[in-house]
Amino acid sequence: MASESSEKIMQYVDAHCHLHDRRIIGDISGIVQRAEAAGVTHMVTCATMEENFYATATLASQYPAIVPCYGIHPWFLDSLSPCWQQELGDRVAAEVCGIGETGLDFMDKNADRDLQMEVLTGHLSLARDLERPINIHIRKAWDAFIRLLKKTGPLKTPGLVHSFSGSADMVKLLMRYNLYISFSGSVTRPGAKKVVKALKAVPGDRILLETDTPDIYPSVPDPDPHGLNEPKNLPVIAQIASARAGVPVPDFVRQAYANALEIFAPLIPPAIHALRH
Ligand SMILES: [Zn+2]
Repeated sequence: MASESSEKIMQYVDAHCHLHDRRIIGDISGIVQRAEAAGVTHMVTCATMEENFYATATLASQYPAIVPCYGIHPWFLDSLSPCWQQELGDRVAAEVCGIGETGLDFMDKNADRDLQMEVLTGHLSLARDLERPINIHIRKAWDAFIRLLKKTGPLKTPGLVHSFSGSADMVKLLMRYNLYISFSGSVTRPGAKKVVKALKAVPGDRILLETDTPDIYPSVPDPDPHGLNEPKNLPVIAQIASARAGVPVPDFVRQAYANALEIFAPLIPPAIHALRH
């Protein structure tokens, strides 16, 4: 009974999701309700291109639990408008929001790596100038990312690398640049040896949790037949991650929640923040 009641009071921040996604936006009130019932007090939703900035802003204005971030994902650089950096900067300056999703993804050998570096550099400089947290995607581009960080120096306000897929050795390097490490449902995969090794290398005060909704559906015994992820799945991700990290669930969850607030509390309306504590 004791563990059941302590489970009920556990709280979560989904540090990275995409609630604007067309596959799920029609069910947004249900998604938010189910998240809140599961203890997910805030969801950091990331736009991925200029086209979905408006939908992201609308969601954040409708639901106080939704914290918006704006950025251009490395997969969608074809969508860049000529003044993207000015427009992104104007929007971020005018709103209570973070920056992202942005990053480097070298999985596709034909991707324009120079353009990705240039666009990420633009996002990093906005994050520095406007003192906002940044939500970063890195796939198969760790050396390039570290080179860039060496040039730009540590982030002024903390940021995160989402759905971490790097090595355990990379963790220490990233922390030096004021980055937190976020784990998604990929940590629940039975064969996730590298991710679990990295998870164990991250100090408790640097771990975050996310769903990357509607993608990266976690490996759970009773999956949703539609296969679309949602923030209500964060507790099961946390449970599996904590077991794999060898940390008791309540300690793991409490720490991840405190870490997320450390980064995102400045973006959470004070009334809501106060209510939750
Ligand atoms: Zn994402």
